[in-house]
Parts: sequence; structure tokens; C-alpha cells
Amino acid sequence: MKEIIMAKYGEIALKGLNKSTFEDILLKNIKRRLKPLGSFNYTRKQSTIYIEPCDDNIDMGEVKERLKTVFGLGAIQPSAVFQKDMDEVKAQCIPYLKDALDLARTFKVEAKRSDKSFPLKSPDIQLALGDAILDAYPNLKVDVHDPEVTVKCEIRDIGAYVSAERIIGAGGIPVGSSGKALLLLSGGIDSPVAAYMMAKRGLIVDGIHFQSPPYTSERALIKVQTLCEKLTPYCGDIRLHCVPFTEIQEALRDNCPEEFFTIIMRRLMMKIANIVAERDGYGALITGESMGQVASQTLKAIQCTDAASKLPVFRPVIGMDKKEITDIARKIDTFETSILPYEDCCTVFTPRHPKTRPVLSEIEEAESRFDFAPLIEKAVKETVLYKYRVGEEY
Ligand code: ATP
Ligand code: MG
Repeated sequence: MKEIIMAKYGEIALKGLNKSTFEDILLKNIKRRLKPLGSFNYTRKQSTIYIEPCDDNIDMGEVKERLKTVFGLGAIQPSAVFQKDMDEVKAQCIPYLKDALDLARTFKVEAKRSDKSFPLKSPDIQLALGDAILDAYPNLKVDVHDPEVTVKCEIRDIGAYVSAERIIGAGGIPVGSSGKALLLLSGGIDSPVAAYMMAKRGLIVDGIHFQSPPYTSERALIKVQTLCEKLTPYCGDIRLHCVPFTEIQEALRDNCPEEFFTIIMRRLMMKIANIVAERDGYGALITGESMGQVASQTLKAIQCTDAASKLPVFRPVIGMDKKEITDIARKIDTFETSILPYEDCCTVFTPRHPKTRPVLSEIEEAESRFDFAPLIEKAVKETVLYKYRVGEEY
């Protein structure tokens, strides 16, 4: 008996003519995630990728864990593979199902026969397998409405597959199928969640981080680097552009009205991100802004920030409550890092009374009193690039 994994497509199963492009990217992403664990055979059929380990020592638990973070998969179904012979299936599936059935009180069998040449029809398969299970576990009861365990038996082209476990996949579409975007990544809770959400929609997400030493510490940078590492299981490789922002913030402090500090700072971030994006081929920016969360995220403030960007700005958490964002941050394991108390450049020179309803023309006028262009050019030139692979820097 051999255990394989049936990795089932999510949304891409519904794609039309371009489906194979998505499948190619999904398969490539899966191979990259599993390669460090050993070698596998991959077969693509019927909106499923069959992942077959090539040796017995592969840690299948870890395979499942890794597959859970791959966007594009709707479900991960570990299965035992048998010859398409009902007697053999009945005899051999019992030891495989032991873990699932030992503690259960109720079960049902669901059969699907996509190989129509198989002599038994689905209801007959269900009956035969159900009987075999009841023989082995006389205390079990069949419950077709609300069973504790659902045993699936699929008769497919290649063989008969029996499984009792179905893990929900990460959903979305494969990273790399939508192009690439640049995330304004702070050390906070929201922007890493924004990265996760846009990677889920197929974008390659890289980060740009603004740091203002000595106002911000080395530890604040390390925190952002840790966040990148934590995002890689979902996002794949991440590049992090670190922009030295101190001089710009000091110029801002010395030359602009205090009540506009935050908005102008955010506009300058947008301008720099646009330059980096244009240089490196990113098609959009991403931020972790949420409507009304702070003064810089009111509708008027967002209008002013948006006006500084030529590229579209995606704000996937804009309509979410802090609690909803936090729940995702916990799920993707960025929360504990995000709440470490190191200062962000946003908290340097925070105005005492930030304008919550800034007017774009006033902001532009205030901004134009100082020529930021040479400082912007210098900051872009001095930007440092870090690269992260799953769990490691490279
Ligand atoms: P977060 O939790 O993501 O830090 P926040 O609630 O602290 O967000 P702000 O500090 O107003 O909100 O930042 C809003 C967005 O601006 C962030 O989500 C992020 O996309 C971007 N941003 C803020 N500070 C930085 C920074 N130092 N470098 C890069 N982007 C930043
Ligand atoms: Mg922040």
C-alpha cells in the first residue's frame, strides 16, 4: 500500500482556455515547496495533481503542512492507492483507515467512479466498502447525514483511491499567475496580512520598507525581515527593498507644516515606491490601510495619498476590522512578530494634531515649498535589497 496526496484545484478548476497556464504555475510552486523534502512523481489529471513520494522516508506530515500554504489548492486529500479491484481495495484499505476509524463512532462511504469501465457503480462500491468497514469495526455505525468520518473511494483512470482525510487548501490562485506588486511593508499587523491577501490572488509580492535610523532601530529592521521570512511559505520568494528615509523625514520636519507631516510622508513613500516599481517592473503597489483606522486612513487622507501614485494601489484590508485582520495575522503566524514594540518611521515626528480631512491642493502647496526630488533620488540610489526564500535569506 502506498500513500499519495491528491492536491485538488480550487478556483482554477473553473478556468477556461487558459487553465493550463495556471496549472503550470501551480505545479511549479508545489514542486519548489516540496523539493527539500525528497523526490516525488507528479501526475496531472482531472483538476488534481497526484503527488507520489519516491521513497518511504519522506515525512508526509510535513508534505501536508507545506501544501496547506500553496495558493491555488482547494483541498489536500491524502489517499491510499490500490489496483482497481474491489476485493483488493476492501482487504487493504482497513489498515490504512485505522487511524481515522479507531476513535470514530459513525462513518459513511462516498464513492465516485470516473472510470466508467469499472464494473461496480458508485452505490455498489459504497455498499461493498461500507460492509468491509463494518466487518472490521463492528461497533461503528453508518450515519449518512452527519458522520464523524467520511471515507472516500474514487475509481479514477490510474487506480482506486481511498481516503479519510480532507484538508482544506489555501484557496486563491497560484502565486505568479497575476504579475508582481510592491508592498509597503511596515512592521505592523496590517501590511503582512495585505501581502498574504494579494499573494492569494496570484500576485508575486515583494516588499519596500522605509527606515529612519537612528530614530528607528536595527531591531525594527530585523522585525520586518522576520516578517518577510514568515510570509515566504505563502508568498514564495520575497525581495525586500529597504529605503533610507531619515533625511527625507528631517527635511519634512524642517520645512512643512506639522499638521501635514503624516500625509506628506505617506505621499513621499508612494513616490519612492513608484520609482522603484517602475525600475523593477512592479505593476501595482499594496498597502495595509484600513478605512478610518487612523488619521492617515480617512477617505480624504487616502485621496491625498493615492494622488501621489501613478500605479494602482491595492488595499486588501481596507474594509476589514482590526479583529478580522488580527485573526488572519495569527493564522499566518505574523502576529507575534508584528506586536513587538519597535518604533516605525511613521511614529517619528508624529504631529500632535494630524489633519484628518486634508485637502489635496493645500497638501500639494505645502509639499512644493521644499524640493524633495534630490533627496528622493538619493534614497532610491541608496536602497538596499534583501532576498528571502522560504525560511532563509539568500
Ligand atoms: P501596519 O499595521 O501595516 O503598520 P498601521 O495601522 O500601522 O499599518 P500606518 O502606520 O498608517 O498604519 O501605515 C499604513 C500603511 O502604510 C501600512 O500598512 C504600510 O502599508 C505603509 N507603511 C507604514 N509605515 C511604513 C514603513 N515604514 N515602510 C513601508 N510601508 C509603511
Ligand atoms: Mg504601521
